[in-house]
Amino acid sequence: MVKNEHVELIPIFDDNYVFVLIDNAGKKAVVVDPGDAGPVTEFLRAKKLDLTAILVTHHHSDHIGGVAALKNTFGCPVYAPEKNQKQIPQADHWLKEGDVVKLSPWEFTILELPGHTLGHIAYWDQQHKWLFSGDVIFGLGCGRLFEGSHEQGYASLQRIKKLPPQTLIYCTHEYTERNLDFCRILTNQDNTPITGDSEALELYANELSNRRDLGLPSVPLKLSIEESTNPFLLAQDAEQFRYLRELRNRQ
Ligand SMILES: [Zn+2]
Repeated sequence: MVKNEHVELIPIFDDNYVFVLIDNAGKKAVVVDPGDAGPVTEFLRAKKLDLTAILVTHHHSDHIGGVAALKNTFGCPVYAPEKNQKQIPQADHWLKEGDVVKLSPWEFTILELPGHTLGHIAYWDQQHKWLFSGDVIFGLGCGRLFEGSHEQGYASLQRIKKLPPQTLIYCTHEYTERNLDFCRILTNQDNTPITGDSEALELYANELSNRRDLGLPSVPLKLSIEESTNPFLLAQDAEQFRYLRELRNRQ
């Protein structure tokens, strides 16, 4: 497949990314989770891009803080989870499991992935194998469960695991190095219930430190690699997931 489209990352705040999807002609753009309007507007203006839609995964302010200003400036529609209508009043389209959003050349299927928040959704583009997953999964980790249960968090990660292995995961935070520290604590613990592929983890660690030393992001994640290294994807059941999440919360 010829790759005609690409995704750019705009770092905002301490460790968030806003994703900008750019079409092959370099004219149209879609943004995901704009927590801050200023840097996004500046980026779009500099590249002479027209913003055609804003996609939102969940209602936390670091994901929606720039929505109103961007909508006002560019006059584009906003897509958001149906379960968060109250928290995201700026939205025009409410999305639920199985809905399809066509924004040519992209087509997103909506996955409901509760846990971090109850209404959390992800945008899955099957053709490009891109997943915009907000705060559900991170490099070698997963999002805190602010609203959902461990059962929901576990089930949501299992759904991601079922996507094609070549999937690129665009998660919103640069937490991978911190999560690598957690993986090492876990590996060095006696009778740890989770044992990932230690060689794969070392390879991951090498590549990660090279990228971060060069000032490059660790995102997008590769699902095929997370599958063999991310302890939260390796958890066998909701109980193991709970054990990991509670241990991670104490770090
Ligand atoms: Zn969040």
